[in-house]
Amino acid sequence: MSFILKQASSTTWDRTPSTDAIVDVRIEDGVIVEIGPDLARRPGESIYDVGGDILAPGLHDHHIHLRALAAVESSVVVGPPEIQSLDELSERLRRASVRLLPGQWIRGIGYHEKVAGDLDRWVLDRLVPNRPIRIQHATGALWMLNSKAIEACGIGHDAPVGAERGPDGVLTGRFWREDDWLGGRLPRTSHDFTALSQQAASRGVTGITEATPGATDAEVAGFVHAIESNTLVQRIHMMVEPEVTDPVSPLISLGPTKIVLDDLALPPFDELVDRITEVHDRGRPVAVHCVTRTQGVITIAALEQVGCRRGDRIEHGSILGPESMAQIAALGITMVTQPGFVATRGDRFLRDVPAPSQPDLWRLGTLLEAGITVAGSTDAPFGDPDPWMAIKAACTRRSLTGQVVGAGEAIDLETAIGLFLGEAANPGRQRRIALGAPADLCVVAAESWSAGSHVEPWVRATFVAGRPVYTAP
Ligand SMILES: [Zn+2]
Repeated sequence: MSFILKQASSTTWDRTPSTDAIVDVRIEDGVIVEIGPDLARRPGESIYDVGGDILAPGLHDHHIHLRALAAVESSVVVGPPEIQSLDELSERLRRASVRLLPGQWIRGIGYHEKVAGDLDRWVLDRLVPNRPIRIQHATGALWMLNSKAIEACGIGHDAPVGAERGPDGVLTGRFWREDDWLGGRLPRTSHDFTALSQQAASRGVTGITEATPGATDAEVAGFVHAIESNTLVQRIHMMVEPEVTDPVSPLISLGPTKIVLDDLALPPFDELVDRITEVHDRGRPVAVHCVTRTQGVITIAALEQVGCRRGDRIEHGSILGPESMAQIAALGITMVTQPGFVATRGDRFLRDVPAPSQPDLWRLGTLLEAGITVAGSTDAPFGDPDPWMAIKAACTRRSLTGQVVGAGEAIDLETAIGLFLGEAANPGRQRRIALGAPADLCVVAAESWSAGSHVEPWVRATFVAGRPVYTAP
């Protein structure tokens, strides 16, 4: 497939020393093969008229959880304030049910007893008799399943300790703090990425790093299937366990191994060193989840002892003292941050984080000043999936109520967009509109950047590997 993008305005996004001229860009087999004024159309070639708008590399979200995002987006809220009574609950579940195919699950979230008292399998069987349903309590500590769901998961004598039983020994369908166990029993094929993938394409997103820990060959195969069946249109860079084998899919690449440090209990230092060494020995970099000051310190120390490998990264780095900056820069660790949390959680940070620690919260500008490679991400569904929201927050550092969190950490728009323009495996290297580069591109209306509305871009089209995946209506 070959086509020409006509009349593209060169962009301030890619900092190539090109001109401000309007150019044409020829795409062949997913790659940029020619850039120049007035390219002649060849037989069979189609034309996409950019019309002087901005042509830029597509955004790459460097840390996201696709299956969790799909689950959240396909969930129904079954608790207050939206749902207040048994009648409202019943109506909401009925409407959710008619949208689904036979056998598909309903996933409810946010339940509270204020709505209709304690829910068990018998109550749920009356509300939803014909398909499996699972409902999560608002606290997150309890799942409630109906009989179809218990049956679909094959739960019997092997039910874990958190599975509640009635006086007769029969499972009540209530499972306390058994997320991991239940997760292993739930059908794996129930994720439909179509809506979230299209949404991302409409925002100019052409690539995603899937950051869920523990991914094995089975998860990789699931994403290969999603791409082949065209429900997922972006490139996927996957964090995987070290032994996972390379998939034969041009749109999927394998990345680091995720190491999650428990928020409450730290592993012994030697254990962390051994784990990093083991992953490195298998040829993969590590991505270590660090959300407390101590986690950051121990991770940096462990990486210093083992020796950094290209691609080693720290996820979040939510609290980092000034003393850590030089070490991170010297070791060459990439920091993968979520500027959007400053907006969505900023008010809570200002209230809950002790004042002396506030300058160390969600650093951004000072990381870049220290010469550290920084990559941007949304961490959806824990953060808002819109990278433009994160870009805006990186520039303003404003919370939802308008309070500023760490004014000194704000960066300019071009740099903020640049956080999403790095290569998946090497975020420090910016992708460009250049000969031989993959045609992962987006077209953004030129007028998006005027009149102060410059962080509400109107994405007009998105291409992944030279294939149009989104065109604005
Ligand atoms: Zn995450």
